[in-house]
Amino acid sequence: MHANIVTLPGDGIGVEVVAEGVKLLRAVADAYCHTFTFGEHMMGGCAIDATGDPLPDETLAACRAADAVLLGAVGGPKWSDPAAEVRPEQGLLGLRKGLELYANLRPVQIYPMLRDASPLHPSRLEGVDLMVVRELTGGIYFGNRQEAAAGDDDPSASPSTGSGQASGQALVAYDTMIYSAPEVERIARKAFELARLRRRHVTSVDKANVLASSRLWRQVVTEIAKDYPDVTLEHMLVDSAAMHLLRRPSDFDVIVTGNMFGDILTDEASMLAGSMGMLASASQGAGSNGVYEPIHGSAPDIAGQGIANPLATILSVALLLRYSLSLLTEAQAVEDAVLSVLEQGVRTPDIAGGGPSVGTAEMGDQVVAALGRALQA
Ligand code: NAD
Repeated sequence: MHANIVTLPGDGIGVEVVAEGVKLLRAVADAYCHTFTFGEHMMGGCAIDATGDPLPDETLAACRAADAVLLGAVGGPKWSDPAAEVRPEQGLLGLRKGLELYANLRPVQIYPMLRDASPLHPSRLEGVDLMVVRELTGGIYFGNRQEAAAGDDDPSASPSTGSGQASGQALVAYDTMIYSAPEVERIARKAFELARLRRRHVTSVDKANVLASSRLWRQVVTEIAKDYPDVTLEHMLVDSAAMHLLRRPSDFDVIVTGNMFGDILTDEASMLAGSMGMLASASQGAGSNGVYEPIHGSAPDIAGQGIANPLATILSVALLLRYSLSLLTEAQAVEDAVLSVLEQGVRTPDIAGGGPSVGTAEMGDQVVAALGRALQA
């Protein structure tokens, strides 16, 4: 097949791990006689430096025209001034909104040989295989917000709301968490459909004891569940979910939750897998092509050293092959190749536990080699 793939390496280790993702895609194309064309575009801090815009129009247009998008990560200390008017993360949010990518799928699987890389006792990791379905284009990341401003001018300010004081005035800032019923319905349906392909259990995570938007969330999810009588539904408060993810992670199958809760819970869940460098994600919309990216950020602490773990990106490539290109055999081959290198003991430093390790490019080479070996066998 022919596919047009846009890459957005972004900043920091995003550049390093996307290079390995492209390496894998080229190897898949060669091995299975496909033609993949690649177009690299700017997003995030690098785009701010070059154009002043974290998501230049031509980048968004290229993503719209692509069959799939492979993204690295954006951000870094250079662009993290809280007073800055443009920030790399605005590019990320703009891309999600621009492509209407309302569903972010984050599978969490445990590789048996990496159990020791997790801070949890190995016995707790037995049977862990869950999928977080995170709502991606609504909630508090997209609601109205007000940056910190002197309280006297703000009608919502009261003397007790501002904890910071500047020149004797209370500072206030706010973000708004807003969800509509159709937004909740479409992500809930996505979760129930996915559960039907898995163990048929959905945990809907909210904060319905405090938040009005969560009460609507719970009401809509309960209603939608009636269309899926073969799937069991449980509701869980997000604080309780954070605790149970560590206490009994294997009980979860599909977790469906809002934008911010999903963001936080999946970072927590990455520790089950041993490292941020192991978790892939797929973002899907209604009819649009998908965006595939590791869940981690640009990791400024290790950027430029060639030691980032590229496996989250390589596993995102497997999701890209499966969901956007419907190349199921090729997707499985990439996942099997990752398993194979881990079985051989190949490790980047984040999962090496202080033992011998390889760099980013070497890990990518090893996965390509494993793919080749499997085809010759
Ligand atoms: P981070 O995910 O970049 O890093 C957290 C920790 O995990 C660091 O110690 C890092 O070294 C480690 N880590 C992450 N990915 C790794 C990998 N592939 N291999 C080995 N170790 C890895 O989170 P952060 O430090 O909170 O954020 C850094 C920057 O990234 C910030 O500017 C933040 O806004 C941005 N960020 C971007 C995205 C995105 O682009 N989707 C997501 C999260 C954070």
